[in-house]
Amino acid sequence: MGEVFLKQIPSYDVDTINDAILKGFSSLGIDIKNEVRGKRVLLKPNLLGAYPPEKAVTTHPSLVEAILKILKGRDCEIWMGDSPNGVQNSLEEIWEKTGMDDLARRYGVLRKFFEREGAEWVGELLISKPVLEADYIINLPKLKTHSLMTMTSAVKNMFGIVPGLKKASYHKISKTPKDFATWLVKIAESRRPDLNIVDGITAMAGNGPSAGYPVNLGLLAIGRDMYDIDYLLASILNIKPEETETLKAAKLLGFTDLKPPVVKGDDASLFDTSTFKLPVTYSLKVSHTRFFNYLVNAFIGRLSISPKVNKRRCKRCGACIKICPASAIKKTKDGYPEIARKMCIQCYCCHEACPHRAIDLRESLILRLNKWISSKLRAK
Ligand code: SF4
Ligand code: SF4
Repeated sequence: MGEVFLKQIPSYDVDTINDAILKGFSSLGIDIKNEVRGKRVLLKPNLLGAYPPEKAVTTHPSLVEAILKILKGRDCEIWMGDSPNGVQNSLEEIWEKTGMDDLARRYGVLRKFFEREGAEWVGELLISKPVLEADYIINLPKLKTHSLMTMTSAVKNMFGIVPGLKKASYHKISKTPKDFATWLVKIAESRRPDLNIVDGITAMAGNGPSAGYPVNLGLLAIGRDMYDIDYLLASILNIKPEETETLKAAKLLGFTDLKPPVVKGDDASLFDTSTFKLPVTYSLKVSHTRFFNYLVNAFIGRLSISPKVNKRRCKRCGACIKICPASAIKKTKDGYPEIARKMCIQCYCCHEACPHRAIDLRESLILRLNKWISSKLRAK
C-alpha cells in the first residue's frame, strides 16, 4: 500500500517548508542525498503562465526554494523546466513573474524551456527532451481545481512535459473528458516522476486552473506515487476519487488499484475545505438525484457548460483564438473573439489560457434548473 506524507503549513516561510520536506523524506524513508547523487535532477513546477505567486496559478517559488536548499551542495546538477500553455507572454516573462528566474539565478539552476530544447517521440507521445534526459524528476504541482478534469495535482502537472501548442492537439483528439484523462495518464507514465511534492499551501478553488480564487489550505503533500497523492488530495477536496477522471483512467490502464494510501504526518481532517468550491463543471460529473439521470437521458446535449467571452474584461489579446483546438473562435471586426458554439468541443482551453479571466463558463438553462431542483430535493 502506498504512503503519502501530509503537513499543515500556515505560510510560505521557506525554512518552515524546508523543515517539513525533510521530515516528509524521513517519514517516507527517502534518502534524498543518495537518490540524487551524480544525477541530473529536473524540477517540474507548474508554470502555466505569467502570474505572480499570490494568484495561486503556479507553484509558489518558496516551495521550490525549500527543495533547492535541500539539493544545493549535493552532488547533482539541478534543472528546472515546464512548458506553459504556449499562447500568452514570452517564456522569459513567465519565468520572471512566477519568481522562478530569480531562483534559477540564485541557486545556479539550469533553466529548461521545454519549447526550445527539442522533443522526441516516445511511442505515440511527443515528449520534451530534457524530461527524457533527466535522471531524476521531482514533480512540483500546484493543487488547483480544473474545469475539465475537476482537479489538477500530480498527474495533470505532468501534461507540461508536452511542448507548447502540441498540448492542444490532445484536446482535439479527445471526444470526452475520459479520453483526455487517458492521454494525461499515458503522458505522465511516459516518464513517471521519481518524487511528487504538492503545493497546496495556497490552493486554487472555483473555476481553475487559472480563473479560480486562492484558498489558504495550508497543505503540503509528499509521495512517490502520483495516484496515491491524487487519491488523497481528491478526498480532502471532497471529490470522490473514483469519480476523478485521471484516477479512473489510471485504474483502467492498470497503473493503480484506486486504494486509499497510508497517511503519514498530519491527519487529513486538519485541512479546512469549507470555503473551497469545486468548478462549476463538476456538476456535470456527479449524479445527485434520479431526476438528474432522467434529465441526462431526456435532454442529452443540453446539460452543458459553455465558454462565453466577457467583453468587459476582454483585452483582445487573441490568446483564446490561438489555443482553441477546434478553431471555434474567430476574431470579429471590432477585434473581440467570438465563439462558434456548434464547433466548440468544451475543452475549456480558452478559459484556462485567457490571462484576463475574460472567458466565463455559463451553465445551460436546463442544467441550472436541474441543480436548483436537486438542491431542493436534497434539502427535504
Ligand atoms: S477573451 Fe481573453 S484570451 Fe480571448 S482575446 Fe479576450 S482577453 Fe484575450
Ligand atoms: S471555444 Fe474554448 S472550450 Fe470551445 S473548443 Fe475552443 S478552446 Fe475549447
